[in-house]
Amino acid sequence: MTRPAGILDNALGAVGNTPLIRLSKIAEQEGLKCNLLGKLEFVSAGGSVKDRIAKAMVEAAEKEGKLVPGKSVVIEPTSGNTGIGLAMACAIKGYSVIITMPNKMSLEKEATLRALGAEVVRTPTEAAWDSPESHIGSAPVPLVRTSRVAKKLEKAIPYGIILDQYRNENNPLAHELTTGPEIIEAVTATPSTPEHPSSGKVDVMVAGAGTGGTVTGIARAIKKSHNKHAIVVGVDPQGSILALPPTLNTTPTSVPYVVEGIGYDFVPDVLSREPGLIDAWVKTADEDAFKVVQRIMRSEGLLVGGSSGSAVAGAIKWLKNDPRGREWSAREGANVVVLLPDGIRNYMSKPWFLELTMNAEATPLAGTIADVLGTP
Ligand code: PMP
Repeated sequence: MTRPAGILDNALGAVGNTPLIRLSKIAEQEGLKCNLLGKLEFVSAGGSVKDRIAKAMVEAAEKEGKLVPGKSVVIEPTSGNTGIGLAMACAIKGYSVIITMPNKMSLEKEATLRALGAEVVRTPTEAAWDSPESHIGSAPVPLVRTSRVAKKLEKAIPYGIILDQYRNENNPLAHELTTGPEIIEAVTATPSTPEHPSSGKVDVMVAGAGTGGTVTGIARAIKKSHNKHAIVVGVDPQGSILALPPTLNTTPTSVPYVVEGIGYDFVPDVLSREPGLIDAWVKTADEDAFKVVQRIMRSEGLLVGGSSGSAVAGAIKWLKNDPRGREWSAREGANVVVLLPDGIRNYMSKPWFLELTMNAEATPLAGTIADVLGTP
């Protein structure tokens, strides 16, 4: 699983193989006895967890003979990160890329896509999923599966092809074969010490869901081949309907939320509904996510994005409020792993980030600086 020593052929060799890092300060601040561990996906070459599926979907399509270098045009509806992964893979391999992406998604994602040579088509965020302008189709099911705008482009453009992360089995499979095993390997390779007691297992896994590929694939890896008693917790933003039971989804889908990459108003095919695979769901609010992003940055030094804040906020909520969560949070050596999908690069111009940084309360040192230099 570990990256081979030596020279990599190209950036795709630097996809995945991400570190698992103790979030000790957050755990301490929350009074958790368990180990809280973050899987840091922004260090992947394209900057997110979605590099893994982009690489897997492109390589699978190549094996099936579906891609022609110099001719194929890879088209994909995405909240941005899958697009960035695809644009990176396609830049290397010589395919053109068109990404359809709702207006809500950050300027930084569009700029990164364009930097990698992709075309970007924006679609209205507020468009119902069945609107012809929407970047995805809508219920009934056959329309959910394909982007209308992407589909229209695919039909009209010679050699156009949608790899379709919403139903492509290589999406969850990439996580079952890479993300999950990497987490298991990092946990099992770390000995239990008096300073850092460890059960030697992944006891709880927490991940947000967009397509649901990440949480589904990691859950399969952990439960099939490592610890069938592990508890997998899905995190879903208020205003989305992915959480189960459906009674958790009290905020209507018409209420917009700002966090990018998680939540939908339909259930993608790749999000497994297999009983017992995802054991619990937690709903999170934007403001909780952003506060936690700030805490992760300031106390752990990790430059994570918004959905990482949702995932950690969701983990804390479950560990403190759910009866099973409270049990696990009190167990020394229990390993609770949280997936951190991307980094702050994607959100630097977003109002919520500027609020946390440029408009943040002055630190105590600001007074000292003013005293030394004089106030202008
Ligand atoms: N966070 C971010 C920032 C993402 O881009 C995505 C992908 N949409 C996710 C979380 C969720 O990943 P998945 O699609 O595998 O559920």
